[in-house]
Amino acid sequence: MYRLIIFGPPGAGKGTQAELLASKLNLNHFSTGQILRDAVAAETGLGQKAKAIMNTGNLVPDDIMIGVVEETLSIENDKDGFILDGFPRTIEQAKALGLIFNKLGFDDVKVINLEVKDEELITRLLARGRSDDSEETIKNRLNVYLESTEPVLNYYKECNKPILNINGIGEIEFINNTIIETLERS
Ligand code: AMP
Repeated sequence: MYRLIIFGPPGAGKGTQAELLASKLNLNHFSTGQILRDAVAAETGLGQKAKAIMNTGNLVPDDIMIGVVEETLSIENDKDGFILDGFPRTIEQAKALGLIFNKLGFDDVKVINLEVKDEELITRLLARGRSDDSEETIKNRLNVYLESTEPVLNYYKECNKPILNINGIGEIEFINNTIIETLERS
């Protein structure tokens, strides 16, 4: 049983690695970005609120995202845990997530921190071609990351949460195996 958060800047490979981990370790892959993209496509109330914000690269308000994640984490099925991808992105979200974990009795959560340098991130994001991957949006997303999301890592360090630092540059499978070996040793 693993309960994981995958953390890192936009373009670090969180989605790719989370998907592989989910299939190899039989985990639920909860991606808040994907939940929002699905909501936009389905034109739900959530999607209507999120669409314009996502296109600028800004963050959807904390109260909305916290509600989404609380609902998502409460899903029960036969998986062996979960990997949370794209959340928390602010200290406020991290604090709320801590309360949700307490409520659900999850006291063994680990953070996988994917480390990739800025230059590499921009190259990767420009190559990806998602609708929120225009050059201007990318710059904004990186700024938002530095300003609002990176501090979450320090918050977790201060809370003594287990953080597994992983070099996110290299072959996808190699990185994935490194994560699994690090998890098994942790
Ligand atoms: P992602 O797929 O994780 O890169 O997310 C795509 C976009 O969805 C982000 O740029 C945000 O606009 C929005 N988003 C995803 N997760 C969150 C979150 N935890 N808090 C706020 N906005 C989010």
